[in-house]
Amino acid sequence: MAASFEQKQKIRNIVLTHAHLDHIAGLPLFIDDLFASLTEPIRIYAESEVIEVLERDIFNWDIYPRFSALSNENGAVLEYKPFEKGKEFCVGDLRFTATGVNHKVPAVGFLVSDAQTSLAISSDTAEMNEFWEVVNNAERIDSLLIECAFPNELRDLARVSHHLTPDGLKSEIAKFKHKNCPIYVINLKPMYREEIIAQLENLQIENLQVLQVGKVYNW
Ligand SMILES: [Zn+2]
Repeated sequence: MAASFEQKQKIRNIVLTHAHLDHIAGLPLFIDDLFASLTEPIRIYAESEVIEVLERDIFNWDIYPRFSALSNENGAVLEYKPFEKGKEFCVGDLRFTATGVNHKVPAVGFLVSDAQTSLAISSDTAEMNEFWEVVNNAERIDSLLIECAFPNELRDLARVSHHLTPDGLKSEIAKFKHKNCPIYVINLKPMYREEIIAQLENLQIENLQVLQVGKVYNW
């Protein structure tokens, strides 16, 4: 939703972790804005359960048009690319492997690699096991991006909505074997951002910082 028109012109591949609205809200209008100008389809990579939710609950003609059934003068405008956990798939120059996390709905984290670099991204999650197994078995991880949605005092809300607090994050980081790897915290609920940041600082984890919105990171 925050992307400029120039940025939108460069985005043709979208990889989804899960179907929660805060992760897909920009999608319908993004495709709508580009509809007439597309010379290739927007490709949405997602688990088949997530694709079913999009088709049933969003692109269902009632909420928004079923773009997967529509074309412009150049052809299809939306193409789904289902992936499965544990099976590597390629998006442009990047290789992705999805791994199960622990959220309220079907959701995955990713290992994302190119020829030089590998990142691990948790997506929305509570405490995890499968993710850590995959990440710890990876030969190299250059950065870990992990969520922390709520401050410690909202731990009950975090528990029922399957998210992490700074205390929960600390327990998760203890499972991470790549010890000196930079850790970037993502998905802080905007309402509690400052509070979460203060609590993360209190953890005094040296290689941990909050990913800044709007900053371009290069790995
Ligand atoms: Zn979510």
